[in-house]
Amino acid sequence: NAQIAMKRAKQSGHAELYQAGDSVTARQRFSLETELRRAIERDQLHLAFQPLIELSTGRVIGFEALARWDHPEKGAISPVDFIPVAEESGLIVALGRWALRAATRTLAEWDRRAGAPLPVHMAVNVSAVQFQRDDVVSAIKAALTESGIAGSRLKIELTESCIVTDPDGIARVLRAIHGLDVTIAMDDFGTGYSSLTYLQRLPIDVLKIDRSFVAPMLHDRDSVAIVRAILGLASALGMATTAEGVESEALIETLIGLGCDIAQGYYFARPLPSDEAFAYLRSRPA
Ligand code: C2E
Ligand code: MG
Ligand code: MG
Ligand code: MG
Repeated sequence: NAQIAMKRAKQSGHAELYQAGDSVTARQRFSLETELRRAIERDQLHLAFQPLIELSTGRVIGFEALARWDHPEKGAISPVDFIPVAEESGLIVALGRWALRAATRTLAEWDRRAGAPLPVHMAVNVSAVQFQRDDVVSAIKAALTESGIAGSRLKIELTESCIVTDPDGIARVLRAIHGLDVTIAMDDFGTGYSSLTYLQRLPIDVLKIDRSFVAPMLHDRDSVAIVRAILGLASALGMATTAEGVESEALIETLIGLGCDIAQGYYFARPLPSDEAFAYLRSRPA
């Protein structure tokens, strides 16, 4: 576990939290876990919402809900730091259920403010660990029932690691989720180790192309080649595509030229507090 933590820490560039064998940082980690548990219990996490833009029309077609933790003393802690802590401690089950409920509740609240159901969906990240440890189908059902949101307006984002751990189990769960009319997106596509066989066999509706391929496209031909290949694969398999990490207009032109469907990134908007996300939606062409 320490090794996994180290690897994750290196990847995310936050090694200070996870030095293996270092008792001080082990204590820090433990305290972060304790504080995260408390934050979840006391409802001190919140969600930020980043718009998803349909490139052919410029319309906002949905939002991705992203967890935020504003620690009373330490300030904002990134999900890149606290999601791994949540996964290793099992707190991800409570956090994941909270995220599903809070995201669908927010969409229902926006509908009420608009006076009618808005033509947008909500995307929620579900961790591989949650797929292993929780009944994700019942968690989704509960969130939909409580909020009154139709399944077709919820999108689940999962990572390739979900498939690697238990391909048959995940296939069953994803089919059940699909049965609720919920859309399924493969997040950070291209960064994991899933085989193309599973991609074909699983009910995946959307490939989300990782920012690490999208961001360098303007100055790196290999990235363009990779994105083009992913778009071709998605199209051949009948899947839609979302590019993440779009920070410039030039990049949007490139993605439109290559036939990408949806984009998400700082060029359009950063992840926004609920009120600002709602205002952003209202300010854009319908
Ligand atoms: P992700 O699901 O791939 O989410 C996209 C991340 O890219 C977000 O980081 C978002 O703020 C960032 N991003 C979007 N557009 C741009 C851009 O143009 N430039 C740059 N530099 N970054 C951009 P964030 O919010 O820090 O979240 C990081 C990761 O933490 C997420 O990656 C996701 O894997 C995880 N995460 C966040 N919230 C949750 C949650 O509720 N549940 C679970 N299981 N994981 C979550
Ligand atoms: Mg995501
Ligand atoms: Mg992603
Ligand atoms: Mg990503």
